Amino acid sequence: MRGIARQNRAPIRANEEGQRLNEQTLSMRLERVAAQVPAGARLADIGSDHGYLPVALMRRGLIAAAVAGEVALTPFRAAERTVREEGLEQHITVRLANGLAAIEPSDGITAVSLCGMGGETIRDILERDNMRLCGKARLILQPNGGEQPLRRWLMENGYRILHEEVLRENRFDYEIIVAERGEPVAYTDLELYFGPLLMQARSEAFLRKWQRRLRLKQRILAHQAAPEEVARHVRWISELLEP
Ligand code: SAM
Repeated sequence: MRGIARQNRAPIRANEEGQRLNEQTLSMRLERVAAQVPAGARLADIGSDHGYLPVALMRRGLIAAAVAGEVALTPFRAAERTVREEGLEQHITVRLANGLAAIEPSDGITAVSLCGMGGETIRDILERDNMRLCGKARLILQPNGGEQPLRRWLMENGYRILHEEVLRENRFDYEIIVAERGEPVAYTDLELYFGPLLMQARSEAFLRKWQRRLRLKQRILAHQAAPEEVARHVRWISELLEP
């Protein structure tokens, strides 16, 4: 692997500490996603943007190969540039493609990451080309909202949730959901909403997230003619947070 000077590249993001985020220094969110990629995986990172996740994992020697898929031209070119500048073209293939269409059977993909998109978008990507996964790949999902419909899709398509976590970064609460095909599982409406494993673990980050959500939804209820769903969610969250 060849390291090439990066001094001409503008940092595009920073975390709360003002740290530059790039293919070496991932956001905490992407670090937590990276920790869920099995060692030696052949990873497809769909919606890869700058390709930071697969490049960081490859630089660290943690994965065997990767595909970085992007539907939009500017991030596709950015991912190509990151891979080229790191001399990783032999190990990471960057493809301009919609969702899982980036994956070819010969890639032998064993893990798929879909991060930083809405849960419904991730669900629709999975639904459109699910057969490309052959049911074997681990899914590492980091939806920005829309977790409930995403979990419902997983349940209805034979996936079992193996790991979930909540983390807070840059004033956003993020969830990570890891799933693999397994024995059919039936999650309740509450489990689909809060996360079956998150509900059990009741971590501090999880409880804080739902305290904030409760305040927000209560404000909505107080000031607007909110849909019945909001009142139901307020009830669910209040019950969840009861000591
Ligand atoms: N995955 C990176 C992360 O978590 O930091 C980038 C997240 S960025 C907010 C979302 C990226 O997904 C964008 O670059 C967008 O172009 C890409 N994207 C959205 N829909 C897509 C699709 N159907 N197929 C491939 N990429 C998609």
